[in-house]
Amino acid sequence: MEERLWDAAVVGAGPAGLTAALYCARAGLSTVMLEKLSPGGQMATTNEIENYPGFPGVTDGFELADRMRRQAESFGASQRSAEVLSLRLEGAEKVLVTKAGEIRARCVILAPGAAPRELGLPNEAALRGKGVSYCATCDGAFYRKKTVAVIGGGDTAAADAVFLSGLCEKVYLVHRRGKLRASGSYAKKLQKENVEIVWDSVVEEILENEKGRVSGVRLRNVKTGETRALTLSGVFVAVGNIPATDFAKGAVPLDEAGYFTAGEDTQTGVPGVFAAGDCRRKPLRQIVTAAADGAVAAYAAEAYLQDQQQ
Ligand SMILES: Cc1cc2nc3c(=O)[nH]c(=O)nc-3n(C[C@H](O)[C@H](O)[C@H](O)COP(=O)(O)OP(=O)(O)OC[C@H]3O[C@@H](n4cnc5c(N)ncnc54)[C@H](O)[C@@H]3O)c2cc1C
Repeated sequence: MEERLWDAAVVGAGPAGLTAALYCARAGLSTVMLEKLSPGGQMATTNEIENYPGFPGVTDGFELADRMRRQAESFGASQRSAEVLSLRLEGAEKVLVTKAGEIRARCVILAPGAAPRELGLPNEAALRGKGVSYCATCDGAFYRKKTVAVIGGGDTAAADAVFLSGLCEKVYLVHRRGKLRASGSYAKKLQKENVEIVWDSVVEEILENEKGRVSGVRLRNVKTGETRALTLSGVFVAVGNIPATDFAKGAVPLDEAGYFTAGEDTQTGVPGVFAAGDCRRKPLRQIVTAAADGAVAAYAAEAYLQDQQQ
Protein backbone atom coordinates (compact mmCIF):
# COMPACT_ATOMS: atom_id res chain seq x y z
CA MET A 1 0.00 0.00 0.00
CA GLU A 2 1.29 3.44 -0.97
CA GLU A 3 1.89 5.63 2.11
CA ARG A 4 0.48 8.78 0.62
CA LEU A 5 -3.16 9.73 1.22
CA TRP A 6 -4.31 11.73 -1.82
CA ASP A 7 -7.13 14.25 -1.55
CA ALA A 8 -8.68 12.98 -4.80
CA ALA A 9 -8.15 9.88 -6.93
CA VAL A 10 -9.60 9.91 -10.45
CA VAL A 11 -10.24 6.60 -12.25
CA GLY A 12 -9.79 7.03 -16.02
CA ALA A 13 -8.09 9.78 -17.99
CA GLY A 14 -10.62 10.42 -20.77
CA PRO A 15 -12.10 13.91 -21.09
CA ALA A 16 -14.17 13.43 -17.90
CA GLY A 17 -11.21 12.27 -15.80
CA LEU A 18 -8.78 14.80 -17.26
CA THR A 19 -11.19 17.66 -16.59
CA ALA A 20 -11.94 16.41 -13.08
CA ALA A 21 -8.20 16.22 -12.38
CA LEU A 22 -7.67 19.73 -13.80
CA TYR A 23 -10.39 21.21 -11.57
CA CYS A 24 -9.30 19.27 -8.47
CA ALA A 25 -5.64 20.20 -8.87
CA ARG A 26 -6.48 23.82 -9.62
CA ALA A 27 -8.55 23.89 -6.41
CA GLY A 28 -5.40 22.89 -4.53
CA LEU A 29 -6.31 19.21 -3.97
CA SER A 30 -3.53 16.65 -4.26
CA THR A 31 -4.81 14.63 -7.22
CA VAL A 32 -3.85 11.37 -8.86
CA MET A 33 -5.33 10.01 -12.11
CA LEU A 34 -5.24 6.26 -12.71
CA GLU A 35 -5.39 5.25 -16.37
CA LYS A 36 -5.16 1.66 -17.63
CA LEU A 37 -4.26 2.54 -21.25
CA SER A 38 -3.17 6.01 -22.34
CA PRO A 39 -4.73 9.39 -21.56
CA GLY A 40 -7.56 10.58 -23.79
CA GLY A 41 -9.95 7.64 -23.68
CA GLN A 42 -12.32 7.27 -26.64
CA MET A 43 -11.55 10.84 -27.70
CA ALA A 44 -7.98 9.83 -28.56
CA THR A 45 -9.23 7.16 -30.98
CA THR A 46 -10.60 9.61 -33.55
CA ASN A 47 -8.78 12.16 -35.68
CA GLU A 48 -11.94 13.96 -36.70
CA ILE A 49 -13.55 16.05 -33.97
CA GLU A 50 -15.63 18.93 -35.28
CA ASN A 51 -17.84 19.76 -32.33
CA TYR A 52 -15.62 20.57 -29.35
CA PRO A 53 -16.16 24.28 -28.67
CA GLY A 54 -13.16 26.52 -29.25
CA PHE A 55 -11.60 24.21 -31.85
CA PRO A 56 -13.05 25.21 -35.23
CA GLY A 57 -12.41 22.92 -38.18
CA VAL A 58 -11.43 19.29 -37.73
CA THR A 59 -9.38 18.54 -34.61
CA ASP A 60 -7.36 15.44 -33.90
CA GLY A 61 -8.66 13.70 -30.74
CA PHE A 62 -5.19 12.60 -29.75
CA GLU A 63 -4.00 16.22 -29.81
CA LEU A 64 -7.01 17.41 -27.80
CA ALA A 65 -6.30 14.64 -25.26
CA ASP A 66 -2.66 15.68 -25.02
CA ARG A 67 -3.67 19.30 -24.42
CA MET A 68 -6.09 18.26 -21.66
CA ARG A 69 -3.44 16.07 -20.03
CA ARG A 70 -0.82 18.83 -20.11
CA GLN A 71 -3.29 21.34 -18.71
CA ALA A 72 -4.22 19.04 -15.78
CA GLU A 73 -0.56 18.26 -15.08
CA SER A 74 0.38 21.96 -15.25
CA PHE A 75 -1.70 22.46 -12.09
CA GLY A 76 -0.02 19.52 -10.36
CA ALA A 77 -2.27 16.53 -11.12
CA SER A 78 -0.27 13.26 -11.26
CA GLN A 79 -0.96 10.49 -13.71
CA ARG A 80 -0.28 6.80 -13.06
CA SER A 81 -0.44 3.96 -15.52
CA ALA A 82 -2.65 1.54 -13.58
CA GLU A 83 -5.88 -0.37 -13.98
CA VAL A 84 -8.22 -0.12 -11.02
CA LEU A 85 -9.42 -3.65 -10.27
CA SER A 86 -11.68 -3.07 -7.29
CA LEU A 87 -12.65 -0.48 -4.70
CA ARG A 88 -13.06 -0.35 -0.92
CA LEU A 89 -15.09 2.76 -0.23
CA GLU A 90 -16.40 2.44 3.31
CA GLY A 91 -15.12 5.07 5.71
CA ALA A 92 -13.19 8.27 5.21
CA GLU A 93 -10.19 6.65 3.47
CA LYS A 94 -11.09 5.16 0.11
CA VAL A 95 -8.88 2.37 -1.28
CA LEU A 96 -8.37 1.72 -5.00
CA VAL A 97 -6.87 -1.68 -5.71
CA THR A 98 -4.54 -1.93 -8.73
CA LYS A 99 -2.10 -4.63 -9.87
CA ALA A 100 0.75 -2.39 -8.78
CA GLY A 101 -0.69 -1.96 -5.28
CA GLU A 102 -3.28 0.06 -3.44
CA ILE A 103 -3.90 3.80 -3.70
CA ARG A 104 -5.61 5.68 -0.87
CA ALA A 105 -7.61 8.85 -1.28
CA ARG A 106 -10.08 10.95 0.70
CA CYS A 107 -12.47 11.03 -2.25
CA VAL A 108 -12.82 9.28 -5.60
CA ILE A 109 -14.03 10.44 -8.99
CA LEU A 110 -14.99 7.53 -11.25
CA ALA A 111 -14.57 8.32 -14.95
CA PRO A 112 -13.91 4.94 -16.65
CA GLY A 113 -16.09 5.68 -19.69
CA ALA A 114 -17.88 3.20 -21.89
CA ALA A 115 -17.30 1.49 -25.21
CA PRO A 116 -19.78 1.10 -28.04
CA ARG A 117 -21.08 -2.45 -28.55
CA GLU A 118 -19.87 -3.82 -31.87
CA LEU A 119 -21.71 -5.99 -34.39
CA GLY A 120 -18.87 -8.50 -34.23
CA LEU A 121 -18.23 -8.69 -37.98
CA PRO A 122 -14.74 -9.60 -39.24
CA ASN A 123 -13.84 -6.31 -41.03
CA GLU A 124 -15.74 -4.03 -38.63
CA ALA A 125 -12.72 -2.86 -36.64
CA ALA A 126 -10.65 -2.21 -39.80
CA LEU A 127 -13.47 -0.06 -41.25
CA ARG A 128 -13.93 2.02 -38.10
CA GLY A 129 -13.43 5.64 -39.18
CA LYS A 130 -13.63 4.51 -42.82
CA GLY A 131 -17.39 4.39 -43.01
CA VAL A 132 -18.19 2.51 -39.81
CA SER A 133 -19.18 4.81 -36.95
CA TYR A 134 -20.66 4.31 -33.51
CA CYS A 135 -21.71 7.93 -32.97
CA ALA A 136 -24.09 9.80 -35.28
CA THR A 137 -23.75 13.05 -33.32
CA CYS A 138 -19.96 12.86 -33.75
CA ASP A 139 -19.69 11.73 -37.36
CA GLY A 140 -23.04 12.49 -39.03
CA ALA A 141 -21.80 15.71 -40.60
CA PHE A 142 -19.19 13.75 -42.58
CA TYR A 143 -22.04 12.01 -44.46
CA ARG A 144 -23.96 15.07 -45.62
CA LYS A 145 -26.07 14.29 -48.73
CA LYS A 146 -24.92 10.64 -48.71
CA THR A 147 -26.73 7.36 -48.13
CA VAL A 148 -26.18 5.64 -44.78
CA ALA A 149 -27.66 2.88 -42.64
CA VAL A 150 -28.27 2.88 -38.91
CA ILE A 151 -28.19 -0.55 -37.31
CA GLY A 152 -30.36 -1.06 -34.22
CA GLY A 153 -33.90 -0.66 -32.99
CA GLY A 154 -33.72 1.14 -29.65
CA ASP A 155 -34.03 4.81 -28.76
CA THR A 156 -30.45 5.61 -29.78
CA ALA A 157 -30.83 3.99 -33.20
CA ALA A 158 -34.15 5.76 -33.82
CA ALA A 159 -32.74 9.11 -32.64
CA ASP A 160 -29.66 8.61 -34.83
CA ALA A 161 -31.84 7.85 -37.87
CA VAL A 162 -33.94 10.98 -37.27
CA PHE A 163 -30.81 13.11 -36.79
CA LEU A 164 -29.12 11.70 -39.90
CA SER A 165 -32.26 12.14 -42.01
CA GLY A 166 -31.73 15.89 -41.63
CA LEU A 167 -28.25 15.62 -43.14
CA CYS A 168 -28.18 12.62 -45.44
CA GLU A 169 -29.86 11.93 -48.74
CA LYS A 170 -31.22 8.57 -47.57
CA VAL A 171 -31.17 6.70 -44.26
CA TYR A 172 -31.95 3.01 -43.84
CA LEU A 173 -32.79 1.88 -40.33
CA VAL A 174 -31.98 -1.82 -40.10
CA HIS A 175 -33.59 -3.72 -37.24
CA ARG A 176 -33.48 -7.43 -36.52
CA ARG A 177 -37.10 -7.52 -35.33
CA GLY A 178 -40.46 -6.51 -36.85
CA LYS A 179 -41.07 -3.77 -34.28
CA LEU A 180 -38.77 -1.07 -32.88
CA ARG A 181 -37.83 -1.14 -29.21
CA ALA A 182 -37.59 2.67 -29.37
CA SER A 183 -40.26 4.71 -27.60
CA GLY A 184 -43.49 5.32 -29.54
CA SER A 185 -42.67 8.99 -30.10
CA TYR A 186 -40.13 7.97 -32.74
CA ALA A 187 -42.70 6.24 -34.97
CA LYS A 188 -43.98 9.57 -36.27
CA LYS A 189 -40.55 11.22 -36.43
CA LEU A 190 -39.28 8.37 -38.59
CA GLN A 191 -42.06 8.86 -41.13
CA LYS A 192 -39.91 10.84 -43.52
CA GLU A 193 -39.44 10.48 -47.24
CA ASN A 194 -35.74 9.74 -46.93
CA VAL A 195 -36.03 7.15 -44.11
CA GLU A 196 -36.65 3.49 -44.89
CA ILE A 197 -36.95 0.92 -42.12
CA VAL A 198 -35.65 -2.53 -43.04
CA TRP A 199 -37.39 -4.98 -40.69
CA ASP A 200 -36.34 -8.45 -39.52
CA SER A 201 -32.84 -8.01 -40.92
CA VAL A 202 -29.28 -8.36 -39.68
CA VAL A 203 -26.00 -7.25 -41.23
CA GLU A 204 -24.24 -10.30 -42.54
CA GLU A 205 -21.31 -8.50 -44.11
CA ILE A 206 -19.97 -4.95 -44.38
CA LEU A 207 -18.92 -4.41 -47.98
CA GLU A 208 -15.86 -2.32 -48.80
CA ASN A 209 -14.50 -0.71 -51.94
CA GLU A 210 -10.99 -0.88 -53.40
CA LYS A 211 -9.96 2.10 -51.24
CA GLY A 212 -10.77 0.15 -48.09
CA ARG A 213 -13.88 2.23 -47.27
CA VAL A 214 -17.44 1.10 -46.65
CA SER A 215 -19.40 0.66 -49.88
CA GLY A 216 -22.48 -1.07 -48.47
CA VAL A 217 -23.83 -3.94 -46.42
CA ARG A 218 -25.26 -7.34 -47.15
CA LEU A 219 -28.39 -7.96 -45.08
CA ARG A 220 -30.09 -11.23 -44.26
CA ASN A 221 -33.78 -11.43 -43.48
CA VAL A 222 -33.97 -13.50 -40.30
CA LYS A 223 -37.43 -14.83 -41.20
CA THR A 224 -36.99 -15.75 -44.86
CA GLY A 225 -33.21 -16.14 -45.06
CA GLU A 226 -33.18 -13.92 -48.15
CA THR A 227 -30.20 -11.61 -48.60
CA ARG A 228 -30.14 -8.10 -49.97
CA ALA A 229 -27.29 -5.63 -50.58
CA LEU A 230 -27.54 -1.90 -49.81
CA THR A 231 -25.12 0.58 -51.38
CA LEU A 232 -23.97 2.97 -48.66
CA SER A 233 -21.30 5.50 -47.72
CA GLY A 234 -21.63 4.90 -44.01
CA VAL A 235 -22.87 2.44 -41.39
CA PHE A 236 -23.85 3.77 -37.98
CA VAL A 237 -23.89 1.01 -35.39
CA ALA A 238 -26.30 1.79 -32.54
CA VAL A 239 -26.72 -1.50 -30.72
CA GLY A 240 -25.78 -0.22 -27.27
CA ASN A 241 -22.80 0.73 -25.12
CA ILE A 242 -20.84 -1.22 -22.56
CA PRO A 243 -19.90 0.88 -19.52
CA ALA A 244 -16.47 0.04 -18.06
CA THR A 245 -17.83 -0.29 -14.54
CA ASP A 246 -17.18 -3.96 -13.68
CA PHE A 247 -14.44 -3.03 -11.22
CA ALA A 248 -16.98 -1.04 -9.16
CA LYS A 249 -19.66 -3.74 -8.95
CA GLY A 250 -20.85 -4.21 -5.39
CA ALA A 251 -19.14 -1.03 -4.22
CA VAL A 252 -21.10 1.64 -6.13
CA PRO A 253 -24.77 1.50 -7.26
CA LEU A 254 -25.22 0.61 -10.93
CA ASP A 255 -28.38 0.50 -13.04
CA GLU A 256 -29.54 -2.59 -14.94
CA ALA A 257 -27.32 -1.68 -17.93
CA GLY A 258 -24.23 -1.26 -15.74
CA TYR A 259 -24.09 2.56 -15.67
CA PHE A 260 -23.51 4.44 -12.44
CA THR A 261 -26.87 5.76 -11.30
CA ALA A 262 -25.35 9.18 -10.51
CA GLY A 263 -27.33 12.07 -11.95
CA GLU A 264 -26.15 15.47 -13.16
CA ASP A 265 -24.73 16.25 -9.71
CA THR A 266 -22.40 13.22 -10.19
CA GLN A 267 -23.23 11.89 -6.66
CA THR A 268 -23.12 8.09 -6.69
CA GLY A 269 -24.88 7.52 -3.38
CA VAL A 270 -21.59 6.49 -1.71
CA PRO A 271 -20.27 9.43 0.35
CA GLY A 272 -17.14 10.93 -1.23
CA VAL A 273 -17.52 9.01 -4.50
CA PHE A 274 -18.58 10.72 -7.70
CA ALA A 275 -19.14 9.51 -11.27
CA ALA A 276 -18.46 11.56 -14.39
CA GLY A 277 -18.68 11.07 -18.14
CA ASP A 278 -19.95 8.22 -20.31
CA CYS A 279 -20.01 5.82 -17.34
CA ARG A 280 -23.08 7.43 -15.82
CA ARG A 281 -26.72 7.41 -16.89
CA LYS A 282 -27.19 10.43 -19.18
CA PRO A 283 -28.88 11.46 -22.42
CA LEU A 284 -25.84 12.59 -24.44
CA ARG A 285 -22.39 11.00 -24.40
CA GLN A 286 -19.92 13.46 -25.90
CA ILE A 287 -16.56 15.03 -25.08
CA VAL A 288 -18.17 18.28 -24.01
CA THR A 289 -20.66 16.55 -21.67
CA ALA A 290 -17.88 14.35 -20.24
CA ALA A 291 -15.74 17.42 -19.57
CA ALA A 292 -18.73 19.18 -17.97
CA ASP A 293 -19.31 16.18 -15.69
CA GLY A 294 -15.63 16.20 -14.71
CA ALA A 295 -15.89 19.83 -13.61
CA VAL A 296 -19.11 19.17 -11.63
CA ALA A 297 -17.59 16.09 -9.97
CA ALA A 298 -14.48 18.03 -8.91
CA TYR A 299 -16.66 20.81 -7.50
CA ALA A 300 -18.72 18.25 -5.56
CA ALA A 301 -15.55 16.52 -4.36
CA GLU A 302 -14.11 19.79 -3.09
CA ALA A 303 -17.34 20.56 -1.20
CA TYR A 304 -17.35 17.04 0.28
CA LEU A 305 -13.77 17.40 1.54
CA GLN A 306 -14.54 20.79 3.06
CA ASP A 307 -17.53 19.29 4.91
CA GLN A 308 -15.32 16.47 6.21
CA GLN A 309 -12.90 18.98 7.69
CA GLN A 310 -15.57 20.83 9.67
C1 LIG B 1 -14.53 6.74 -32.60
C2 LIG B 1 -15.18 7.77 -31.70
C3 LIG B 1 -15.37 9.05 -32.17
C4 LIG B 1 -15.95 10.01 -31.35
N1 LIG B 1 -16.10 11.28 -31.84
C5 LIG B 1 -16.60 12.25 -31.02
C6 LIG B 1 -16.72 13.57 -31.49
O1 LIG B 1 -16.41 13.89 -32.64
N2 LIG B 1 -17.22 14.50 -30.62
C7 LIG B 1 -17.61 14.18 -29.33
O2 LIG B 1 -18.01 15.08 -28.59
N3 LIG B 1 -17.52 12.91 -28.88
C8 LIG B 1 -17.02 11.95 -29.68
N4 LIG B 1 -16.96 10.64 -29.25
C9 LIG B 1 -17.48 10.32 -27.90
C10 LIG B 1 -16.48 10.77 -26.82
O3 LIG B 1 -15.19 10.38 -27.18
C11 LIG B 1 -16.89 10.20 -25.47
O4 LIG B 1 -18.20 10.64 -25.17
C12 LIG B 1 -15.93 10.68 -24.38
O5 LIG B 1 -14.60 10.31 -24.67
C13 LIG B 1 -16.32 10.10 -23.03
O6 LIG B 1 -15.37 10.52 -22.11
P1 LIG B 1 -15.13 9.78 -20.72
O7 LIG B 1 -13.98 10.46 -20.09
O8 LIG B 1 -16.40 9.69 -19.98
O9 LIG B 1 -14.77 8.27 -21.09
P2 LIG B 1 -13.66 7.65 -22.05
O10 LIG B 1 -13.30 8.56 -23.13
O11 LIG B 1 -14.20 6.31 -22.40
O12 LIG B 1 -12.39 7.50 -21.10
C14 LIG B 1 -12.37 6.59 -20.03
C15 LIG B 1 -10.93 6.23 -19.69
O13 LIG B 1 -10.93 5.43 -18.52
C16 LIG B 1 -9.99 4.38 -18.67
N5 LIG B 1 -10.41 3.28 -17.79
C17 LIG B 1 -11.52 2.50 -17.90
N6 LIG B 1 -11.58 1.61 -16.88
C18 LIG B 1 -10.48 1.83 -16.12
C19 LIG B 1 -9.97 1.21 -14.93
N7 LIG B 1 -10.63 0.20 -14.32
N8 LIG B 1 -8.80 1.66 -14.41
C20 LIG B 1 -8.14 2.69 -15.02
N9 LIG B 1 -8.56 3.29 -16.16
C21 LIG B 1 -9.72 2.88 -16.69
C22 LIG B 1 -10.06 4.03 -20.14
O14 LIG B 1 -8.87 3.39 -20.58
C23 LIG B 1 -10.26 5.42 -20.77
O15 LIG B 1 -9.01 6.02 -21.11
C24 LIG B 1 -16.36 9.66 -30.03
C25 LIG B 1 -16.18 8.36 -29.55
C26 LIG B 1 -15.59 7.42 -30.38
C27 LIG B 1 -15.38 6.01 -29.85
